[in-house]
Amino acid sequence: MVATPLGNLGDITRRALDILAAVDHVAAEDTRDTTRLLAHFGLVSKCFALHRHNERTGAAKLLELLSRGESVALVSDAGTPGISDPGGLVVAAARAAGHRVVPVPGPSALTAALSVAGLAETGFVFAGFLPPKSGPRRNRIQELDLAGLPMVFYEAPHRIAASLADLEAVCGGARAVVVARELTKLFEEVHRCPLAEAQAWLAADRNRQRGEFVLIVEARAEPAATARTREAETVLHLALEELPPARAAKLAAKITGGRREELYELALKLNEAKTHQTPP
Ligand code: SAM
Repeated sequence: MVATPLGNLGDITRRALDILAAVDHVAAEDTRDTTRLLAHFGLVSKCFALHRHNERTGAAKLLELLSRGESVALVSDAGTPGISDPGGLVVAAARAAGHRVVPVPGPSALTAALSVAGLAETGFVFAGFLPPKSGPRRNRIQELDLAGLPMVFYEAPHRIAASLADLEAVCGGARAVVVARELTKLFEEVHRCPLAEAQAWLAADRNRQRGEFVLIVEARAEPAATARTREAETVLHLALEELPPARAAKLAAKITGGRREELYELALKLNEAKTHQTPP
């Protein structure tokens, strides 16, 4: 699985070039694009097509080649194959057939955008592309936002405005968004602003609506009190696995600084819920 540049050809890795030169075949999402890429580096094309619409037949061909002892590099149009790109099915099938599957890491729009987003947290939720229709899109955003982590999306130019509108509707205008566009290319832009200002920023210049986008929405701010309650509940849950409610509440209060009486009441409720659970 060989990563290729997002735009700037200087981002190809030495190992990617060595592998692309050495393999017997290259399975490519777009054979014309990959042939151009190979030609740029003075490599001959040995491409066959493996894309979303022929992933099964393409995978069968790839397995056939591997079973003959030939080597295959899989590349997508740009970035890392398998990330919102074909590749997952093939990897699973190749591994199931006993072949070694090796990552040749390199550029990805996901990591490139995250690296300049300036997030304080280390975690994030990546969900690839959002649904094309507004209703399901809003539901998806709402669902992902429950994780309380920054959310990262890929987006296409014809849906960028609508997605920003739905992100604002669900997350509120005060939340910050990072719009990372045309990364590593001539018109690269990384813009951070509150969601309330994002649509106006996009509309202010028609060129901003062109190209490829990654959107990163900062995590929702949880009121400190809610965060403390959550922590106490987590500790209580764990303590209840070993202790009766009164002692679990006492321990949780000690650890988290929460109120013992409240935690005891909660412990009783949790215990009751547990005893009413139907076994799996
Ligand atoms: N597998 C690829 C990767 O690792 O980056 C992503 C493939 S996905 C089909 C294509 C999407 O990635 C685009 O619609 C866009 O959201 C994002 N993308 C790709 N290149 C980009 C770039 N240069 N700048 C910003 N986003 C990019």
